[in-house]
Amino acid sequence: MDQAALATGTPKGPWGSVAPAAPACSLTEVMSEQLARQLDEENNVLPSLSDPAADLLLEDVPDTASDLMLAQMLQLQFDRECDDQLRREERKFNGDSKVSISFENYRMVHPYEDSDSSEDEVDWQDTRHDPYKAEKPQATPRKGFTGKGKNITTKHDEETCGRKNTARMDNFAPEVLVGDGLGMDLKLSNQVFNSLKQHCYSEQRRSARLHEKKEHSTAEQAVDPRTRLLMYKMVNAGVLENINGCISTGKESVVFHADGGSLEEQPVPDEVVLKVFKTTLNEFKNRDRYIKDDYRFKDRFSKLNPRKIIRLWAEKEMHNLSRMKRAEIPCPEVVLLKKHILVMSFIGKDHVPAPKLKDAMLDSDDMKAAYCQVLHLMQQMYRECHLVHADLSEYNMLWHQGKVWLIDVSQSVEPTHPHGLEFLFRDCRNVSTFFQKRGVTEALGVYDLFNAVSGLNIPVAAEDEFMAQIVALEKRNEDHVQRRGKKTFPVSLEDGGPPLKPDADD
Ligand code: ADP
Ligand code: MG
Repeated sequence: MDQAALATGTPKGPWGSVAPAAPACSLTEVMSEQLARQLDEENNVLPSLSDPAADLLLEDVPDTASDLMLAQMLQLQFDRECDDQLRREERKFNGDSKVSISFENYRMVHPYEDSDSSEDEVDWQDTRHDPYKAEKPQATPRKGFTGKGKNITTKHDEETCGRKNTARMDNFAPEVLVGDGLGMDLKLSNQVFNSLKQHCYSEQRRSARLHEKKEHSTAEQAVDPRTRLLMYKMVNAGVLENINGCISTGKESVVFHADGGSLEEQPVPDEVVLKVFKTTLNEFKNRDRYIKDDYRFKDRFSKLNPRKIIRLWAEKEMHNLSRMKRAEIPCPEVVLLKKHILVMSFIGKDHVPAPKLKDAMLDSDDMKAAYCQVLHLMQQMYRECHLVHADLSEYNMLWHQGKVWLIDVSQSVEPTHPHGLEFLFRDCRNVSTFFQKRGVTEALGVYDLFNAVSGLNIPVAAEDEFMAQIVALEKRNEDHVQRRGKKTFPVSLEDGGPPLKPDADD
């Protein structure tokens, strides 16, 4: 409390000195013209006070003639009271705890805020009757009315109902600010009360919906608690030093960057990625055909529940990468497979992933070199690894150290897959279109590229005819497989990937 106020024994408000005897008054009174005039007169009398401290104070007294000013001052007063309340709550909440929580952000910010007297306000507030506390309306007895004869008041009486409605606002959710209406003799008609109630309910529902959506989306975008636990276990076991952050969130997977540790005495690459296959099943349903018709996984596919099928995707990517590595195709090296998490080497440097071919800024020579490499990579995959990428495009090829690296091979299938050649045709179309658009004149058209990769000599014709030939070939191959019980393409059963250990909770 400041000296002047102490000297006079009166607290200081934004109006200057407030007479301590001023009774608590209702808004109706404050708004009345008569009272305004009366206050104005009192104000004018004040300068005649002989107290020099009062004179000093009065220099700060703002002009109260304008309604706007008055409203702002009232608001300021109100805000200060809120802030004091907040401070008290903060003190109570934190107690003697060493870790404390600040409520500072909830404080009102007001252009009229000055630094003085906020502590005074606490005393002021504490020693007074709280004008904002609602007085309970009289309950109507069970018989439904009070009084006798002419003075009978039923429970439907407008005034009683109005007061009851006002009191019932107290039951609204805590975040609903009902203002100081509770403390006044305010009568809310049923209609007004009902629409207020309706508004509160719909607001609550809206906020719950928003909240839920937020939680749901985090679960979708990041990882569920079980996956997080698996990731922590990898850090605990020392396989990873640290998990740094998310590189990409796709429809089927989330990719994280991590610092490698060591695995069974073997060093893990300094930088690795964790490809977490999403356990939300929707997307994978559309992709069943990449796995259920893959004879390598066919038997297991039919026996597994959908959650475990997702692990098959991770496993499939691991086997495919291992095959590619053996053929010395530039691709990530598998470090570890744990359920639906595949850990592999990071293509990039110092936490910066290599750009996708789509984003890499290559001059025409590099672009041409990239094309030649991709053609060769496709041939190697087909002939040496017996794989068709099945999602090959500028999005799944990275440009790193002057080379094209292939990634994202969970859906890759063998050429004997019932749709393998169709997938290859689609890959060829993506590659051909991309390089032709980027001005590589040497880039083969889709049909020539298909023949160059597969070694098949399908006569170049209109697309319908070409596709018909492809489908016929696939059919012939399938028949052959069924008749002979073996594959038309030689298959290597040993991928050389890390052994899969059955999990305790499988
Ligand atoms: P999705 O099936 O979600 O497309 P990808 O395997 O293509 O999964 O990975 C998504 C993105 O994550 C890639 O486009 C690439 O930018 C990044 N990424 C994936 N694997 C690696 C890796 N080994 N090194 C660097 N970045 C990678
Ligand atoms: Mg991808």
